Amino acid sequence: MSRAEALINLDAIRGNVATLKRATPAEVMAVVKADGYGHGLLPVARAALAGGATWLGTAIIDEALLLRAAGIQVPILAWLWSPSESVAVAGAIRAGVDLSVSSTWALDTVLAAARDGGQRANVHLKIDTGLSRNGAYIDDWPDLVAAAAKAETGGEIAAVGVWSHFAYADDPGHPTVARQLERFREGVALAERAGLRPRLRHLANSAATLTNPDTHFDLVRPGIAVYGLSPVPTQGNFDLVPAMSLRAEAALAKRVQPGEGVSYGHVYHTAAATTLVLVPLGYADGIPRHAGNRAPVQIGGTRFRISGRVCMDQFVIDVGDQAVVAGDTVVLFGSGRDGEPTAQDWADAADTIHYEIVTRVGPRVPRRYVGTAG
Ligand SMILES: *Cc1c(COP(=O)(O)O)cnc(C)c1O
Repeated sequence: MSRAEALINLDAIRGNVATLKRATPAEVMAVVKADGYGHGLLPVARAALAGGATWLGTAIIDEALLLRAAGIQVPILAWLWSPSESVAVAGAIRAGVDLSVSSTWALDTVLAAARDGGQRANVHLKIDTGLSRNGAYIDDWPDLVAAAAKAETGGEIAAVGVWSHFAYADDPGHPTVARQLERFREGVALAERAGLRPRLRHLANSAATLTNPDTHFDLVRPGIAVYGLSPVPTQGNFDLVPAMSLRAEAALAKRVQPGEGVSYGHVYHTAAATTLVLVPLGYADGIPRHAGNRAPVQIGGTRFRISGRVCMDQFVIDVGDQAVVAGDTVVLFGSGRDGEPTAQDWADAADTIHYEIVTRVGPRVPRRYVGTAG
């Protein structure tokens, strides 16, 4: 190992997608946005396809184009772009990347790019069913589907999808889930009444894929579950295997006296003569500063806790009289199979969600891939 690394188990990713596929007759779009939730866009995409995904999804267009540039030919949807991105939109159409459309201005942008490029664009019309984030508000939906139907007649676009996203899928009994599902059905009906025949209706993220078959329709869009992290931790792990293990090499270990203040602000003091171990990862690498004095690590099979504040590049662990030397491996989190902490443990320690723990592991941390998938 170098200073630190994120070990990525591609077989776990392939297996997790296979697990998701078994949960639904619908097609599976593996969501690989944000550099595959920090696991690495291309290896993750290939492992997910090996597991049976037939679609890939990204937020930004650039990531979709990277997948195409790497020779990946399956259908891809990119769903978040803004008005100045007409060049990216044209590039997406040229590369055969499907685009999400949430408004008539966005439809016009796609139409113009399709016309200029002489190539039909596949669009997925997004309806806001209650997340109040992206998607056309229900009041604006009739105008959008009418404009899309007209454009489809003109041959510039194919409205292949109608879709939406949940606000509360991780709380499967929440009343908004049923309400959003109902609004989604209404949205699809309105699109059909406008003359559209979307062949891909999709709504389910990981949580809905694993807990609510009524939401599956033609395609499901799992993200976090692909990486092996439970979308509904209160309901167990759904046989998912966490794919990322974050580890570092102890950069220094030294004996110190009782009463020493540790790291910036001295929010930790040694209680006895003890060994302090320096871990060369910090908030510049995505270690939450909020995890200071709280988050767990494992060294040589024993659990410890961060001592004092997390700094930009490093943090310290008081290991007592444990025999730890520079060069020993410090496991921050992993699958948990060998007793090590998990990304969920880190999320709990930092008052966040495991999505953020894995996704924020920064570019200074090399990813090393193990397994045969991808
Ligand atoms: C991120 C995202 C997903 C995947 O969500 P998970 O909770 O990670 O499964 C699906 N759809 C959209 C629109 C997203 O932004």
